[in-house]
Amino acid sequence: FKNEMKIEFPSKSQNEAFARVVVAAFASQLDPTIEELSDVKTAVSEAVTNAIIHGYENSSGKIEIECKIEGRTLTVIVTDYGKGIEDVELAKQPLYTSRPELERSGMGFTVMETFMDSLEVESEPLKGTRVKMTK
Ligand code: ATP
Ligand code: MG
Repeated sequence: FKNEMKIEFPSKSQNEAFARVVVAAFASQLDPTIEELSDVKTAVSEAVTNAIIHGYENSSGKIEIECKIEGRTLTVIVTDYGKGIEDVELAKQPLYTSRPELERSGMGFTVMETFMDSLEVESEPLKGTRVKMTK
């Protein structure tokens, strides 16, 4: 069984809920449990929120989401063309945040890693960030 889709939308906070629901609707073809679906939604929210607040620092930019189903596996890729991450390994550490003044807890990547089966982060300063997750 194979299927795929791609959406793009501007980096507005209202679109975080939109992205989460669209990916969940796509993923529902796999007959996931409520819990699996909720895990995917949580991970997508974290990635999209990061693109909006860190990638584009709340200015306007383009966010893309690509989803694929191959067999029983869902792949979700969230891409932004924002400021990028200098040190991805550091950024992925639990509790690390570059924005403590915004009361971020530094747990987004940890949540993605915990709720999905795999997480890969590719980023280049001033080019952007690509977060690939599977479940
Ligand atoms: P929380 O997600 O708990 O609110 P946070 O967003 O700071 O806090 P993470 O989501 O784990 O924590 O991200 C860690 C750090 O990685 C961020 O503080 C930011 O510096 C960097 N980062 C994450 N995603 C991006 C992105 N798309 N573009 C640029 N920097 C990013
Ligand atoms: Mg975050």
